[in-house]
Amino acid sequence: MNAQPVLLIHGGAWAMPDDAVTAHENGIANALAAGYTMLERGASAVDAVEAAVAVMEDDETFDAGRGSFLTQDGRVQMDALLMNGENLRTGGVACVERLRNPIRAARLVLDKSPHVYFVGTGAERFARQHGMALCDNMELVIPREQERLYKAQEAEQAGLPDETFSGSLDSHDTVGAVALDLRGNIAAGTSTGGTLNKAPGRVGDSSLIGCGCYADNLTAAVSLTGWGEPIMKLVLGKWAVDRVAAGASPDEAAHEAIDYLFDRLGGHGGIILLDADGRVGLAHNTPRMAWGLRTPEGVGIGVTRN
Ligand code: ASP
Repeated sequence: MNAQPVLLIHGGAWAMPDDAVTAHENGIANALAAGYTMLERGASAVDAVEAAVAVMEDDETFDAGRGSFLTQDGRVQMDALLMNGENLRTGGVACVERLRNPIRAARLVLDKSPHVYFVGTGAERFARQHGMALCDNMELVIPREQERLYKAQEAEQAGLPDETFSGSLDSHDTVGAVALDLRGNIAAGTSTGGTLNKAPGRVGDSSLIGCGCYADNLTAAVSLTGWGEPIMKLVLGKWAVDRVAAGASPDEAAHEAIDYLFDRLGGHGGIILLDADGRVGLAHNTPRMAWGLRTPEGVGIGVTRN
């Protein structure tokens, strides 16, 4: 099959302040350029997704890699998943603290392990055994996030509502990508530092297969961002691609998924979807969502308002 390449990415869905918009747009543009160049040269969808997500992990703007939100005890703890829609091969890591690019560790799991998912020090050991360098956790912690955590904990001690798990609109900056390559295969990836002030060891939706990420050539590729607990309870990524299998367009399925998230559990977030025909969908019920789309027809980058 000779398909036209498509790359659709997101950089979080939340109440993004005006002064954060340009940094998000720049980060999205860089990730889109890196991934799409590879697709044009014949790289696989998995390669392009990995590359696009890694660029956003390297960018402190986003809640992934260095610059991630911090746990209650001031550490960075990250989750990522990568899935190949051609053969359903999948790699996931969670609660990793010493990897600059968790999506690259997920790629190693996908390529080199009979298993699908590694956590914590076992994931780090696996990555190191396959050539990845480990870093010190403090290399991933930045002052902006220490300040953000301090404010969240101050509010908590003052008895103000728990912003983190009550569905706060201002803390969802996870990154993700879906791609279609020249051979007609699709893939998806999602990477996150999770939610602000999370308990150590907490895993969100982003890296759980079928929750924050999924890909199957027969249905669609999907990546989500948002309040992880409701997304997990609904296994929303798989729910959305199953809507495509049932005949919905990716755009319809994206909107239906976000409506379902809100109607069923009062959840909020954003979703991107892509099928093997190159049809795309995007929806969010947060005030803003950062996204980018590149096809042979051109490029679109936006921080959409609801
Ligand atoms: N979904 C992520 C989580 O709950 C957070 C995010 O999207 O930013 O871990």
